[in-house]
Amino acid sequence: MKYLIRQGRLVDPVGGIGGIMDILIEDGRVAVIGSDLNVPSAQVIEAKGLTICAGLVDMHVHLREPGFEYKETIASGAQAAAAGGFTAIACMPNTKPVIDCPEGVAFVREKAAQAMGAQVFPIAALSRGQQGQEVNDYEALKNAGAVALSDDGVPVQNANLLRDAMILAHRQGLTVLSHCEDADMVQNFAVNEGRVSRQLRIPGRPAIAEELQVMRDAMLAEETGAAVHICHISTAKSVAIVRRYKRKGVQITCETCPQYFTFSEEEILNQGSIARVNPPLRTGADVEGIIEGLKDGTIDAIATDHAPHTEEEKARPLTQAPSGMIGLETSLAATLTALYHTGEMNLSDILRKMTVNPACILRLPGKGRLAVGSDADLVLFDPNEEWVVDPTVFRSKARNTPFAGKVLKGRVKCTISGGKIIYQDK
Ligand SMILES: [Zn+2]
Repeated sequence: MKYLIRQGRLVDPVGGIGGIMDILIEDGRVAVIGSDLNVPSAQVIEAKGLTICAGLVDMHVHLREPGFEYKETIASGAQAAAAGGFTAIACMPNTKPVIDCPEGVAFVREKAAQAMGAQVFPIAALSRGQQGQEVNDYEALKNAGAVALSDDGVPVQNANLLRDAMILAHRQGLTVLSHCEDADMVQNFAVNEGRVSRQLRIPGRPAIAEELQVMRDAMLAEETGAAVHICHISTAKSVAIVRRYKRKGVQITCETCPQYFTFSEEEILNQGSIARVNPPLRTGADVEGIIEGLKDGTIDAIATDHAPHTEEEKARPLTQAPSGMIGLETSLAATLTALYHTGEMNLSDILRKMTVNPACILRLPGKGRLAVGSDADLVLFDPNEEWVVDPTVFRSKARNTPFAGKVLKGRVKCTISGGKIIYQDK
């Protein structure tokens, strides 16, 4: 199938090509980028008024399969991703069983190959069963197709194990993705420690619980030379630590998620359990620090940490509901609303953090860029269209979004992966 995308505004953070362009897609690849192309044999996609960029890459999602298919499956997650403009997503291994062996990685890849939607890349567990006691066979996991290593969801408490893991991961050319929270400090508390936890008279998760481990991991990255990526950074001080270690030349990268630059802890008072997430929503000053980190390049990537739960689970009281929120179908719009339409950042700098940067951190060849000869993975979106978030129409099985009922500006119109249309807005 040949497609000619006409008159779209191309944004390419890598090559710097910009302006109104036509793009010809042939045999799953970008064949030509130019002006006024005329290819009678191609099916035309009119893109006037739309922005075109490389398909979005989400380096941090939870697809819940195997084990929790009632929350999400690889197939439903891949479709939700496509509807959000993503053509590549990487899924965390905290499933049941945990993805910590080659057979587990193979299972995810098989399911992913059958799914209609974004391509799914498995992340394997750092430690056996995510127990934090024993490292896995990273060579075997890499050969099976794992793209990175993480115990996300169960932060690694044992610094000695983490150090060994970094050394071994470095040898295999795998990045270590780290969920930073000190388990003794955060326990299973529901919200940030601060104004809101005091008001609700419940114990909270202090910012320092995150910052201590960000510091630990930055120092370990420096000492081991391994590529270390900090997941879902949420505090201004965490940003400052990463900034300092990057300046020293340490191979450290980090991501944040739309919830951390959109909402502060006060959102808990409005939305209760729906706003419960780990790490928790923080203070207004932290939100400012996150935006500053995005603007100055300290924060490399915007991920979703898409974490599906059922309506019953999220209807439980704040202290009993599971943590996490979904994000695949709102990520681009929420990001444009918070960062682009407010004048904080330009489109190219935003899209860099949602395409090429995460693809580079995960070392996904050919992903995250739009150039002649590259995979025809791209997204067409209207940056100015306003819409009201209605979770009942989501492709995801889950509905637990803090953006429900909110007006967002920016709408995905068409997602193309490997030259095939995987999502079209009607
Ligand atoms: Zn996490």
